[in-house]
Amino acid sequence: MAEITESKNFIHAFIDEDIAEGGQFEGMTVHTRFPPEPNGYLHIGHCKALIIDFGTAEKYGGMCNLRMDDTNPTKEDVEFVDAIREDIHWLGFDWGDRFFYGSDYFEKDYEYAVELIKKGLAYVCELTPEQFKEYRGDLQHPAISPYRDRPIEESLDLFRRMREGEFEDNRYTLRAKIDLTSGNFNMRDPVIYRIRHMHHHRQGDKWCIYPMYDFAHPIQDALEGITHSLCSLEFENHRALYNWVVEHVSVPHHPRQIEFARLGIDHTVLSKRKLRALVENNYVSGWDDPRMPTLCGLRRRGYTPKSIRNFCDRVGVAKSPNTIEFAFLEHCLREDLNETATRVMAVLKPIKLTITNYPEGKSEIFQVENNSLDESAGYRDVTFSRNLWIEADDFMEEKVGKFFRMFPGNEVRLKGAYVVKCTGCVKDENGNVVEVLCEYDPESRGGDTADGRKVKSTIHWVDAANCCDAEIRLYDNLFDDPDPDAAGKDFLACMNPHSLEILSDCKVEASLKDAKAPSSFQFMRQGYFCPDSKDSSPEHLVFNRSVSLKDSFKPGK
Ligand code: ATP
Ligand code: MG
Repeated sequence: MAEITESKNFIHAFIDEDIAEGGQFEGMTVHTRFPPEPNGYLHIGHCKALIIDFGTAEKYGGMCNLRMDDTNPTKEDVEFVDAIREDIHWLGFDWGDRFFYGSDYFEKDYEYAVELIKKGLAYVCELTPEQFKEYRGDLQHPAISPYRDRPIEESLDLFRRMREGEFEDNRYTLRAKIDLTSGNFNMRDPVIYRIRHMHHHRQGDKWCIYPMYDFAHPIQDALEGITHSLCSLEFENHRALYNWVVEHVSVPHHPRQIEFARLGIDHTVLSKRKLRALVENNYVSGWDDPRMPTLCGLRRRGYTPKSIRNFCDRVGVAKSPNTIEFAFLEHCLREDLNETATRVMAVLKPIKLTITNYPEGKSEIFQVENNSLDESAGYRDVTFSRNLWIEADDFMEEKVGKFFRMFPGNEVRLKGAYVVKCTGCVKDENGNVVEVLCEYDPESRGGDTADGRKVKSTIHWVDAANCCDAEIRLYDNLFDDPDPDAAGKDFLACMNPHSLEILSDCKVEASLKDAKAPSSFQFMRQGYFCPDSKDSSPEHLVFNRSVSLKDSFKPGK
């Protein structure tokens, strides 16, 4: 995977040109905006866009507006508006007092539309949506627009009556008069207003005509004094129309639109429509299910703002679409948590270990380091006694291959405590191992043998007399298929039936008794885990696996 360094960021190169001497924005403050549509929660793709928007403003000492793109009257909800703000703040960005709604400009949009009509640059059309498609023409044939020469006065009158609610949906549209022969179909007299008798979440029933995004968006940018309107690649073909609008209505500024490639990630889908389908059909527990690529899902999974910002920065800004491995996102999280997470011991699939030569009722305290990479993280007390829990996988009655952990006759080190020698096991009536037996070497306190005997393996454990029960949730990719988002694919058929495994009888060390989100721990030999922000409580601890220890990301792949 190519890492694109800052110097290669083509957006910054354009901006440098624009603000330099003689550039179109010479001497101006760089001003960007992030315009989410409040019809769903932000996902990691939006995150990339907003890091570009806010990050670019930050880099140039400029400003970035947060604008809810609520031009379209369908499916908007305050729940989403609040969540979007929370997510952006969580990532560490702020818009100050520059929070706007696209719908607040409806009156202005209307005035500019009237201006266009008066200039002979827009007209009321009465083609039905079907006819509109039929008359669009193709590369060899221009579009046909029978109402193009409607007198200005007549268009003005009809447009006013459209606003007043005299006509039913789709009876008329307002079209910009641009070029019926253009090779760019967006310029073939595009519709800029349509009739929709719909309630708007903020405007109520004030409007029954709504501006199209391609008309409203450049006006919003221009009125807010945006210098650089950064957007994803699907708007490239709309740039000509964007420029046409700002040039032909009397807005105070002429922003520049620059497009970048959308972020794609393998084994997931990044489209609000598809994510909503997962939620509504109960494939996941909600928008914040820890398997979701939404920011609230990633946060609940244990992702840190730093890891996500780092990921987006390193993916870079590209001009052509690219798909990044989910494993790279995990790699960025692992890197961050490796430095910061407290190391603890937790047994996911426990089996009892009894140290037969350790006195009953005796208890010792060991000091175990919190983070071997960070001396300042200090030590914590871990109690030790005759009965411990270890991973069932760390014992084999008969050793196979290169297994060097617990098997009869073998010595292992119990992390931070003693060296023990396995002496056998106890089985139930069905022949299942229910308890492992061992003897400890009293001379090996702290983990080193007195005579220098080599001990190959170190295993983790918790004191059965002093530990907590926990539920632990292990996550895997939501989709088996690496590209469930591909056009034409039934993404619901690509789901991984094993994306969630719940372990309900885990044993974790006592220091985790009061663990609360947000916090991250490295469960020794297992991975990074965080308390679940919704379901975990001191009475019922629940941990999510954020990421395993094993890194499957291969640089250069
Ligand atoms: P979706 O298909 O998920 O609904 P959208 O583009 O309709 O995406 P918006 O709320 O309109 O969602 O997006 C806000 C901004 O985020 C837009 O500027 C859009 O270009 C950008 N964006 C959305 N998805 C991605 C992505 N995968 N990569 C980069 N930018 C994205
Ligand atoms: Mg959109």
